[in-house]
Order: sequence, then structure tokens, then C-alpha cells
Amino acid sequence: MADIIIMSSSATKQQIDNVVKKIKGLGFNVNLSKGAEKTIIGIIGDTRGISDEAFKILPGVGEVISILKDYKLASREFHPSDTVIKVKNIEIGSNTLTVIAGPCSVESKRQLLKTAEFVKRCGGKILRGGAFKPRTSPYSFSGLGLEGLMILKEVKEETGMPVITEVLSPEDVDRTIEVADILQIGARNMFNYRLLQKVGQVGRPVLLKRAFSATIGEFLNCAEYILKEGNRNVILCERGIRSFDTAFTRNTLDLSAVAVLKKETHLPVFVDPSHGTGRRDLVLPMSKASIAAGADGLMIEVHPKPEEALSDGFQSLTFDMFAHLMEEIMPLVKVVGKKI
Ligand code: PEP
Ligand code: MN
Repeated sequence: MADIIIMSSSATKQQIDNVVKKIKGLGFNVNLSKGAEKTIIGIIGDTRGISDEAFKILPGVGEVISILKDYKLASREFHPSDTVIKVKNIEIGSNTLTVIAGPCSVESKRQLLKTAEFVKRCGGKILRGGAFKPRTSPYSFSGLGLEGLMILKEVKEETGMPVITEVLSPEDVDRTIEVADILQIGARNMFNYRLLQKVGQVGRPVLLKRAFSATIGEFLNCAEYILKEGNRNVILCERGIRSFDTAFTRNTLDLSAVAVLKKETHLPVFVDPSHGTGRRDLVLPMSKASIAAGADGLMIEVHPKPEEALSDGFQSLTFDMFAHLMEEIMPLVKVVGKKI
């Protein structure tokens, strides 16, 4: 099985082209990474039938590698450089720390607009807000639905901020992409394979949240489902996992997952310290820790009046707290060589 062809450092352009031609001739596509030293050619598709030997004999080929992991497109071996996702004029995953912020749920035009304007003024780049809300209790507020999407659209137009919102089912996707710049798949739906395939087929970046009890391998395989359908713009988001101690925190924020993912995959990695801890007083320290661990971005819940929020008020930051957070993280962002 051949997945990656590493050309020798002395390989000529013609030798590289020859390898690419051979791969395409076999009916596969390629992923070309041109490094300063070497060119790496990834073979896209089910490569089980391709023998290493067929490539090892070609001039200019240094090494032929098989990826034995079940996720391939997501792996760092396959795509050594960091994936950068463009959303309007924002570059996610480069040397930038991108802050997504906004209320848990869209509740009214006034609530969302006020929050968006404040978040933008503080340096937040993308507005969040749920229209279709997955709730633990079926009696809890489940979002404004289509009305929520309309509000997101209006606020996006008025502020110029790109928006992210959750899709709960494949049927939500077509109407949501008319508004959303990024589609969010929540923790409860990480394993919803039909939904993963559906968002993989549309040309919109996807932020995939880690399920409560998913291993890192399962998380990467779910990203692979989206990538395999042709959508290469996937952001991973650690949002806390289930553990035994729920006395002080809602979830256990697994920051080691961030460091592992940065090694294992080229996809941008975000952290949601709001759901990760369930406590607004822990959002700032965990945001700092996330940046130190290598996160490419943060997703934070902010509300004009958290005590009146229809969902997740206890973990939502007040405006003052959000402004303070943005100031406090700035020096750290610089220390890790990034900008906001
Ligand atoms: C959310 O971000 O609105 C949300 C529901 O989060 P999670 O899917 O991580 O619980
Ligand atoms: Mn929430």
C-alpha cells in the first residue's frame, strides 16, 4: 500500500511530474506539499491496491510510506503543513489566534446585535449563536429555529461579522448555509455519520466539536468522514469530556488533546472553555491554558445579561469579563508567536 511518496531532495520537476502523472493514471488525486527540502506527494483515495514497489522504482523517489491509521486525510503525515481556512478575510489556523464569541443561543435581534458589536469591538472575529439548540431536557428552550437564522443573517449584514451556528440534522444544512460562514457540529452529534457526510458535501467550513466520551482517535475519524466527502475545511474543537468529578466543573477540559491533535493532524484546533468548564470564572484561566497548549482559536459564550440567558447563562461571560479576557490573553498570544 502506498499513501505518501517522499521525493528525494535532488528530485527534478520532471521526476515529480512523472510520479503525479502515474498516480493520476491510476485514477487517484494527489495532495502536493512542496517543502524547502523535499516534495511530498499524498495519494488521495483507497490505496490498498497500490503497491509500494510500483513507485519505489521511479527516478527521484526517496521513500514510499503507507499510513496504517484509519484516518488518512486528517493525518499530519499526509499533509505536513498546517491547514489554513479562509473565512472572509480571516485566516484560521495560520499564526493567528481566532476568537469566536457570542451567546449560547440566539434569543432576539437586540441581544445578538448588542453582543456582536461588543465582541467585534474587543477583537473577536467570528460571531457564534445557536438557532437549533440540542438540549439535555426536551422541555428546555430549543432555539428560535428559522427565526434565529434570520436574526443571524441580519446581524451579520449589519456588523460584517462572519457567523457560526449549529446544524442538528442533515435537513438543517441547506437552509443554514444560506446564512452561516461556518457550520457547527455539536458534541452530541459528533458521531452522526449522515450529518458528517452531508456537511462534507457542501462548500462551507465546519467546526466539529468533540463528543463527551470520544477518544482522540474517534474524533479524528469523524473529521475524516467530512474530509473524505471533499470538504477540506474542518476545524476541531475540544469542549471538555465526561469524567468522574462533576462537583466543580461541568466537564473535564482535556487540554492534552490540543497538544496531541496539533501533532497528529494539520487541521486547526480550537478550545471551548465555556462548555469545557461550565463556569464563567474558569473561562479566562482555561483560555490562557488553551493558548499555551497550542490552540488556534477559542470559542467563548458571552451574553449581555447572563442571568437572563435562555441557555448556559452560568458559563456565559458578561461584557466586562469578555473585554478583560481579550486584554489578558493578548500578551500570551504574542509570546506563542501569534496575533489576534
Ligand atoms: C454549543 O456550542 O452551543 C454547544 C451546544 O456545545 P456542545 O455541542 O459542545 O455541547
Ligand atoms: Mn451553550
